[in-house]
Amino acid sequence: MTTAYFIHLNGIVQGVGFRPYVYRLAHEMGIKGWVNNSSHGVYIHAEGLQVPVFYRRLLQEVPPLAKITHEEYREVAFGNYADFAILQSREEGQADVLISPDIATCGDCLAELRDVQDLRYRYPFINCTNCGPRYTIIQDVPYDRAQTTMQSFPMCPVCAQEYADPLNRRFHAQPVACSQCGPAVQLLNAQGDFCAGLGIEQIARGEIIAIKGLGGFHLVCDGGNPTAVQRLRQRKERGAKPFALMARNLEVIRRYLKVSLKEEELLKSSAAPIVILERKKESGNVLPDELAPGLHTLGVMLPYTPLHALLFDGAFDFLVMTSGNLSGRPLIYTNEEAVRELKGIADYFLLHNRDIFHPCDDSVVQVIGDEAVLHRRARGYVPLPQKCPQDLKASILGVGGELKNAFCLGAKDRAFTSQYIGDMEGYENFQRFRQELASFQKVVQIVPEVVAYDAHPDFQTTQFALAGPWPQKIKVQHHHAHLVSVLGEHGITAPALGVVCDGTGWGEDRRIWGFEFLKGNAEGYRRLAHLEYLPLPGGDAGAKHPLRIAYAYGKSLLSEREWLMTERLWERLAGAEQKILDQQLEKRLQIFETSSGGRLFDAVSALLGICTSVTYEGQAAIELESKAALWSGKNSEDALEPRYLIEWAENGECLILKVKELYWGIIQDVLDGKEPAFIAYHFHDSLAHGIVRTVLELQVGEGPLVLTGGVFQNKLLTEKVLVLCKAFGIQVIRAKELPPGDGGLALGQILIGNERCS
Ligand SMILES: [Zn+2]
Ligand SMILES: [Zn+2]
Ligand SMILES: [Zn+2]
Repeated sequence: MTTAYFIHLNGIVQGVGFRPYVYRLAHEMGIKGWVNNSSHGVYIHAEGLQVPVFYRRLLQEVPPLAKITHEEYREVAFGNYADFAILQSREEGQADVLISPDIATCGDCLAELRDVQDLRYRYPFINCTNCGPRYTIIQDVPYDRAQTTMQSFPMCPVCAQEYADPLNRRFHAQPVACSQCGPAVQLLNAQGDFCAGLGIEQIARGEIIAIKGLGGFHLVCDGGNPTAVQRLRQRKERGAKPFALMARNLEVIRRYLKVSLKEEELLKSSAAPIVILERKKESGNVLPDELAPGLHTLGVMLPYTPLHALLFDGAFDFLVMTSGNLSGRPLIYTNEEAVRELKGIADYFLLHNRDIFHPCDDSVVQVIGDEAVLHRRARGYVPLPQKCPQDLKASILGVGGELKNAFCLGAKDRAFTSQYIGDMEGYENFQRFRQELASFQKVVQIVPEVVAYDAHPDFQTTQFALAGPWPQKIKVQHHHAHLVSVLGEHGITAPALGVVCDGTGWGEDRRIWGFEFLKGNAEGYRRLAHLEYLPLPGGDAGAKHPLRIAYAYGKSLLSEREWLMTERLWERLAGAEQKILDQQLEKRLQIFETSSGGRLFDAVSALLGICTSVTYEGQAAIELESKAALWSGKNSEDALEPRYLIEWAENGECLILKVKELYWGIIQDVLDGKEPAFIAYHFHDSLAHGIVRTVLELQVGEGPLVLTGGVFQNKLLTEKVLVLCKAFGIQVIRAKELPPGDGGLALGQILIGNERCS
């Protein structure tokens, strides 16, 4: 008698062609029995001599998008099945199957899109079990067409037959559709009249089109047309913030931008994120500087929906694809809102009638130190969970921070971080936060009992947490959360030293922290070192005026004699502005003490005349890095000693990083007429030396060093620190699947909340 086995697999095993895969493999190997889907994953009953080999192959040859997080295999009673069948889905109790993120169009679908003979020739919504919308159209679980925004499109006989055929690539592909039965596009002009086509000629003419995509609207124009790009920039009131591009294919990207193997992998991945790439010098002829003023990089992605692929029937190689929203407002994702809100910006609207349920921006990634670092995590990555180092004691919500917010819901050993929501300062963004929090709870099946929130009393998210219904509320220090988030991602529970460098976070001494050396874990932390406190005029809002910061820092750091020599640096400050600053500093009015790392970058950027007032968050630091990178590209040899010195002072148990020498050194170089790129480069280099020397000085013994916080999205600085750490034998860990900036904060909040909740 042959034996029979029961197999249970869970993870991402639904909506990715898993059952047809099991079915085909069983047929190929002569295995009898059945497979079915349940709310707990895939169950298989397998009979035959070959079952052990079948099981091994089953785990080894999984479909590209499947991900197995749980496997179980045991002998059961022999059922004497005559064949292998796919059974009806079973529902039982609470679902715990993972929902797949949205997936870029697969090669098979792209081929069919171009095949005149195919049913779905040029159909903008072609998809299959290996690709297409997922998270963005899911209203509830289990993942089934009736619970997605595809529910309003009954399948035609052909689609229905493919959907029901276990050997078809569209077997149980929930969004399956064709031009007979599925969603359709519609082009409108600004007056609301219907027009023919996809707007390709209009784009070629230099016009701006609002296009509904997978996770929301894009504002689109020809990326090679400087006038169109400039017009979009003005209409969107975007200041100097860089635009993202979509490129026809990898070849055209290579022509103008440097692409490493790792970067190529990311561009072609099923998540299809925006990848930040370095421009080649000759790129300026084709890709106008208006795309990203003052930067040496561009963010580029490949077409990830069939509609995008069809747009490139036009003669352009690059399209600007910037989020369809008004400045400081959330991403627009409904037709009505797009037509209403983007009227003054777009000349045409390319709409479609497949509703988006979870708006999702494009994700943004950069390769730093040979690893992908997420700047923004949304489409293509959400709602994949992170595994917690240990089971959580309760269901916990981490509300995240104030800027670049993402929240996180955790239960058992999983934590689900939401897509990037945006800055919480605006009313509309905060509404979006509440809306997504409500619907995300459904998708991940977690109803929180505990809320963990940032210690900053003025954050919208803090007030939201304090006003909410949760029985337990736990306050978490900002940089502690940053540190623990990275430890959590690496499954580490032991205390470790972290360099947490970012713009702003509420400190326990009620000052603004931001350049912190913390040793700790989820249970607690000690502050071992930090940047000295410097006067920040206007507090967090003062970040918009880097020259004022530079002025205040200079006045506080320099001697009277030195200060007198700096007069001409402040010519760009209006006389009245200077007078107000002097009074503020003298009387300590609206002056906040800060150890922020981000503000130090801002001050130096302004000193060098690179960026003296900002139009988007982080601009001064980003432009400073770009300048420095230009120098670094031309001058490869590294000095052994840093040009500018960071010194230490002791304050009790805490080491204080003193930047007087660094600041004065930079000012002297500016006054000597040294090139800004040279100074910017040496600032990065000196800071990296300062960080690593401090780590060595702290001698905290075993364990990896954590590098995190928004400043470690700076490629030049991070790579310099990594090189030095390697030279000194320091093992470094960084954020992996979450951003090192505030987009990754909420996981840390959850893990700390877990330690403190009862
Ligand atoms: Zn496909
Ligand atoms: Zn159909
Ligand atoms: Zn932060």
